Amino acid sequence: MVEADVESRIPELKELQRVAYWLAQRFWSEANAGNISVRLTELPADIAPREGGPPVQMPLAFPELAGQHFLVTGTGKRMRDIIHDLEGNVGLIRILPGGEAYTCLWGTPRVTSEFPAHSAIHQVLLAERPDHKAIVHTHPPGLAALTHLARFQDTEALSDVLFHMHPETGYFLFQQLAFLPYMVPGSVELGQATAEALRTCKAALWDKHGVVAIGETMARALDWIEILEKAAQVYWLVANSGQQPVGLTDQQIGAMLKAYGLA
Ligand SMILES: [Zn+2]
Repeated sequence: MVEADVESRIPELKELQRVAYWLAQRFWSEANAGNISVRLTELPADIAPREGGPPVQMPLAFPELAGQHFLVTGTGKRMRDIIHDLEGNVGLIRILPGGEAYTCLWGTPRVTSEFPAHSAIHQVLLAERPDHKAIVHTHPPGLAALTHLARFQDTEALSDVLFHMHPETGYFLFQQLAFLPYMVPGSVELGQATAEALRTCKAALWDKHGVVAIGETMARALDWIEILEKAAQVYWLVANSGQQPVGLTDQQIGAMLKAYGLA
């Protein structure tokens, strides 16, 4: 039975639905690619005490997350289906005592296979940046393509090209972008490296794969991805014309950062 009352009383569900819609619209989450999670700090009084279904073990323990509630997209689910069916594609889960397993209170009980990576990030965020509750992972083609050029395969070079393509990139993401070398998608190793990068950054680019962004909200995390992808698209539009982009000068970027008190 569809519990429409749950959907209408947890505002983050509607926000997740909107973000998933835009990821699908932009073809950034082909097939079942991409995943979203958000830590919930408030739940309706009749939902919070639910016992939930059978425990689902996680490959690693995240003891600091015990008792925390999350909305998470389901494993093998499509972003484009979330607009039609939240309950069949998204799970509301609680991490059980010890942090080794979770239980599902509502929706799909099997969450994304990348949830261990999300959990590693959430554990860092809860301890160090608790206002950042949302994680969005997706595959924007312009950004992924940049990481196929050897000269952009490090944080400084990648940040440099993106910051020089559009003023907004420097304004919102100055020293907030990390590049991570290729690691197996969904691996604990990739999750831990991403969590480390997101101690201070807003977004991490995974080599030849995609991007992970964090935010106070899912919409905010999507903002960062949109801004980075816009800069990447500007780069490719100019590069595809056979010209090398002029780019903003260091002086122009410096003046903007100074004007807004960012450097
Ligand atoms: Zn991916």
